[in-house]
Amino acid sequence: MTAGERPHLASPTAAGEEFLAGLQADYPLAKLTSFKVGGPADYFASAKSEAEMARLVRGAWELGLPVFVMGNGSNILLSDKGIRGLVIRNMCANVSYAETGDRLEIAAESGAMLPRVGHEAIKRRFYDLVYATGIPGTVGGAVMSNAGAYGWCMADSLSWVKFLARDGAIQTLPAEQCELRYRHSRFKDTGEVVLAAGFTLSQRQETAKAAELNRKRRDSQPLTLPNAGSMFKNPPGAAAGALIEQAGLKGRRIGSAQISDKHANFIVNLGGARAADVRALIELAQATVKEPLELEVQLAGDWT
Ligand SMILES: Cc1cc2nc3c(=O)[nH]c(=O)nc-3n(C[C@H](O)[C@H](O)[C@H](O)COP(=O)(O)OP(=O)(O)OC[C@H]3O[C@@H](n4cnc5c(N)ncnc54)[C@H](O)[C@@H]3O)c2cc1C
Repeated sequence: MTAGERPHLASPTAAGEEFLAGLQADYPLAKLTSFKVGGPADYFASAKSEAEMARLVRGAWELGLPVFVMGNGSNILLSDKGIRGLVIRNMCANVSYAETGDRLEIAAESGAMLPRVGHEAIKRRFYDLVYATGIPGTVGGAVMSNAGAYGWCMADSLSWVKFLARDGAIQTLPAEQCELRYRHSRFKDTGEVVLAAGFTLSQRQETAKAAELNRKRRDSQPLTLPNAGSMFKNPPGAAAGALIEQAGLKGRRIGSAQISDKHANFIVNLGGARAADVRALIELAQATVKEPLELEVQLAGDWT
């Protein structure tokens, strides 16, 4: 297959043809990402329920079509060539909250926005997810990378994850079996699709206020320009942003992409940037900084 070419599908059955006919072709994706860059999806669909998500994923897998689940698009750098296969926009956003004595049990579909879940918990005077009110992603995207901030992360309150396994079966695992560590979960390696997650909250003391943490973000991060959050994981004992700044790269520009002059672990789109410009800045930082810089943002799509 040459770059940008659609995957070859073994002649689809009538049911397969019908499945493909229900999808949108050549769907522009840049507007669905926080970076506002990247090319189209070969095929695109939105899922508003778990059943619809499962039907779409299984249908694509049966046809040999790669699947990419798009949450809020806030942790991806999408290639200018776009994504081969089916992109499913996750709009499954039901959440239930049950107070049981001194605990709050939350069951959230994976397309629910994390800040909303965090604020709903605060309304009920549970403060475990205060840190998460400034992370602009879905529950599924956050579980995928064990998202975190200010010393807390998903693993602190996640109790279970329901997902679609590669054989198409729906499974549930306790959080302890999800291999959650710094910006990592098993789902990064397996290609399984997160359908829902459970959280058990118990923190009744408001040790940090959401408004204060989020003001801190606005003061230190370039939130007025399109970006995808921190580009690199912090190497042990160091801050990636400080290392990039010390290497003299703060403010460096390639095309319309720039290593932010406000926070050097952010790359911003100054307007009309290409994914290739962002990638070139990533490679420049990795080549210039002595310590290895591992990507936190996910490269998505066709980078051949
Ligand atoms: C301004 C800003 C600030 C940020 N601050 C933080 C922060 O403090 N801490 C932090 O950890 N992150 C931060 N991020 C990054 C990002 O918001 C988080 O990683 C978030 O959890 C990503 O969720 P998403 O729904 O946007 O995922 P997406 O970007 O849509 O997807 C990310 C990856 O997860 C996969 N994925 C998404 N949903 C599913 C699913 N249901 N099943 C299987 N795979 C799935 C996608 O295929 C993709 O590979 C920030 C981003 C921005 C733009």
